Amino acid sequence: MKKQIIVAAAALTMLTACGGSATQATKETDKFDYTVEQFADLQILRYRVPGFEELSLQQKELIYYLTEAALQGRDILFDQNGKYNLVIRRALEAVYTGYKGDRDNADFQALEVYLKRVWFSNGIHHHYGSEKFVPGFSQEFFRQALQSIDASALPLAEGETIDQLCDEIFPVIFDPKVMPKRVNQADGQDLILTSACNYYDGVTQEEAEAFYGAMKDPKDETPVSYGLNSRLVKENGKIEEKVWKAGGLYGSAIEKIIYWLKKAEQVAETPEQKAVIGKLIAFYETGDLKTFDEYAILWVKDLNSRVDFVNGFTETYGDPLGLKASWEALVNFKDLEATHRTEVISGNAQWFEDHSPVDKRFKKEQVKGVSAKVITAAILGGDLYPSTAIGINLPNANWIRSTYGSKSVTIGNITDAYNKAAHGNGFNEEFVYSDVELKRIDRYADLTDNLHTDLHECLGHGSGKLLPGVDPDALKAYGSTIEEARADLFGLYYVADPKLVELGLLPDMEAYKAQYYTYLMNGLMTQLVRIEPGNSIEEAHMRNRQLIARWVYEKGAADKVVELVKKEGKTYVVINDYGKLRALFGDLLAEIQRVKSTGDFAAARDLVENYAVKVDPALHAEVLERYKKLNLAPYKGFVNPKYEAVTDSEGRITDVKVSYEEGYAEQMLRYAKDYSTLPDRN
Ligand code: ZN
Repeated sequence: MKKQIIVAAAALTMLTACGGSATQATKETDKFDYTVEQFADLQILRYRVPGFEELSLQQKELIYYLTEAALQGRDILFDQNGKYNLVIRRALEAVYTGYKGDRDNADFQALEVYLKRVWFSNGIHHHYGSEKFVPGFSQEFFRQALQSIDASALPLAEGETIDQLCDEIFPVIFDPKVMPKRVNQADGQDLILTSACNYYDGVTQEEAEAFYGAMKDPKDETPVSYGLNSRLVKENGKIEEKVWKAGGLYGSAIEKIIYWLKKAEQVAETPEQKAVIGKLIAFYETGDLKTFDEYAILWVKDLNSRVDFVNGFTETYGDPLGLKASWEALVNFKDLEATHRTEVISGNAQWFEDHSPVDKRFKKEQVKGVSAKVITAAILGGDLYPSTAIGINLPNANWIRSTYGSKSVTIGNITDAYNKAAHGNGFNEEFVYSDVELKRIDRYADLTDNLHTDLHECLGHGSGKLLPGVDPDALKAYGSTIEEARADLFGLYYVADPKLVELGLLPDMEAYKAQYYTYLMNGLMTQLVRIEPGNSIEEAHMRNRQLIARWVYEKGAADKVVELVKKEGKTYVVINDYGKLRALFGDLLAEIQRVKSTGDFAAARDLVENYAVKVDPALHAEVLERYKKLNLAPYKGFVNPKYEAVTDSEGRITDVKVSYEEGYAEQMLRYAKDYSTLPDRN
C-alpha cells in the first residue's frame, strides 16, 4: 500500500524543515535546484540522494545493478495501463525527435505537452484521475507529421501503412468516447468493460469474478494473490490467464530484469538479501504465485540490509477489481538518523493497539513485526515514476502481514524535495482561515505530517484483525478506500495523543492541531483542485480523505465542531473544538475497523458513496478559481538521478557516480532508447 502526498501539491507549503533527514539535507544542498519544469497540471522536480557517496563500494555496486533492473520494466507499465500506450508513445516520440517542420507552431507545441503528459502518466490517461487526456493538436497535423518523418522510426506493425497506423490509434487518442477512463469505479457499471486498463481482454466483470471466485478456497489460510501477475483473456470462448514471466507475456522485459538481478545477487550485502533476490528471480522465471509469497516472506524478514528494493507486480489500484498488480520499482537505502523516529513508534506498537478506540474483538492480541524506517530513494521506476508515493507498506497479502508483519517506509529525500520546492508558493495564505492556523502550520505541520505518515504506515495498516472466516476481499471495489481510511484515522487519532509528547516525538499538545487543520482543509476543500469540473472523486486516497473529512463535518455539525465559513466571499474551514474532533476521528475509526473486520460490504458502500465520491459543485468551482490564481501545478513528479559505473581496465566497477543534471524530456528519451524492452504490441 502507498501513502501519497496528503495535501495536493499544496502540500507542504510554507513549512520549515525540521525533520531529521530534512535538516540534514538542507545543510548539504543549499544551492540545489529542486524544480525542473512545469506544464499542464504537472510540475517536475528533482531529488537528491544524500549519503550515497558515503556508502561502501559494494553497496554502490548493488544499487547500480538494482537501478538498472528498476528501469528495465518501464514498458510493462505502459502496456498494463492500456493496450495502445506503447504504440502511441513511440509514434509521438518519433515525431518529437524527427519532425523537421516548424517546432514553434501551436500544433507541435500541443503535441509536445501531450507527449510529456503521456510520459508522466505512463499512458494516455491521467495518472491520478484516470480520465483520458484531451489532445490540443489536430488529427490532420499529427497525420502529416507522421508522414513527414522517416518511417523506420515509426511503430508500424508488419506490412502496416502510416494511414493504417492512424486508423489504429487516432480514435484512441482523439475520440472522447473510446477508452475514456483507465480505471472506472462507477457503481453499477461493468467495471472491466468500461475500464481501458489492459488487465483483461474479452471478458466481462461477471466472468472475471466467477473465474477468480472459483479459485478461492475459503478454508485456505494462506491463499496466493490470485490473478496478481497475469492478463485474463477469452480466446476461442475459453477464459485463461496469460502470465507475466520469462518466456510468457512481457517476457522480453522480464528477462532483462532478471539479468540485472543476477548481477545484484552476486554483491548482496547479506546471505538473507541474496536469498531474497534469488527468490525474486525464481518468481520472474516461473510466474508461480506461491514462489512470490515465499519471496515476500524472505523480503519482509530481511531487516538488516542497509540497501533495499521493490521490483515487481505490487499494487492493485490500477485494476478496477483490485486483483492485478502494476509493475513498479524502487531502490533505496536506510536513512539511519531519521529512522530513529519510526523505531520509537514501532517499539510501542502494542501500546497503540491496546489503547485504540476500536472494539476489542477487532484488535490484535499481539501486533507482530511492525518494522519501520526512513529511506533515501536512489531511483524510482514503473508505477512509482515520475509520480511517486512518499510512504510504502508491503507486502500486501493479508496472511503474510498478520503472520510475518510488514515493512513500512517513509521516503525522506522525496518528502524533503516536496517541501523545498513548495516553499513560499502562497497556497496556505490563500486557503488557511487565519494567522492562528497559519502560524501553527508554519511551526508544526512538517513534523506532524511526517508523524502522521509514520503512524499511517507503521501502525495503521498493520493494526486490527479480520474476524475468523471473513473474506479479505469482502469489501470489493470499496476495499482500498476503506483500508486507506482506516490507516489515516489511526494516524489522526494518535497524532493528538499525549503519548507522542511523552515519547519525545512531539514538543507539546498544540502541534497536532496543525495536522488536524491541514487534513480537514484538504479533505473538505483543497484536494478538489485535482478534480476536473463536473467529475466526482475516484482515486482511493482522495476518497478516503473526503470520507473522513465529510463524516466528521456532518457528525459534529450540531456542536459546530467543524464549520465552513464565508469571509469576503471565500470559504474557509474553521475548527472550533479540537478535542471533540479527535473523539469523532475515534468514533469513525471504530466503525471503519468494524466494517473491515466483519466484511460489511453494505456499510462500506454506504460510507463511500455517501461521503467520499460526490463533490459540491459550487465549492468545487470556488476552490478551482482561487487555486488557478496561484498558478501552481496540482501534481508533482520527479526526474531520477543518473548513475554511471566507473570501471577499471578489466571491466570491474571501481566507483558509481551520481549526477542530477538531466532534464525531463532528455531523461524520457534516454529511457525510451536504452530501456525499450517490449514490442509495440503485446
Ligand atoms: Zn496507506
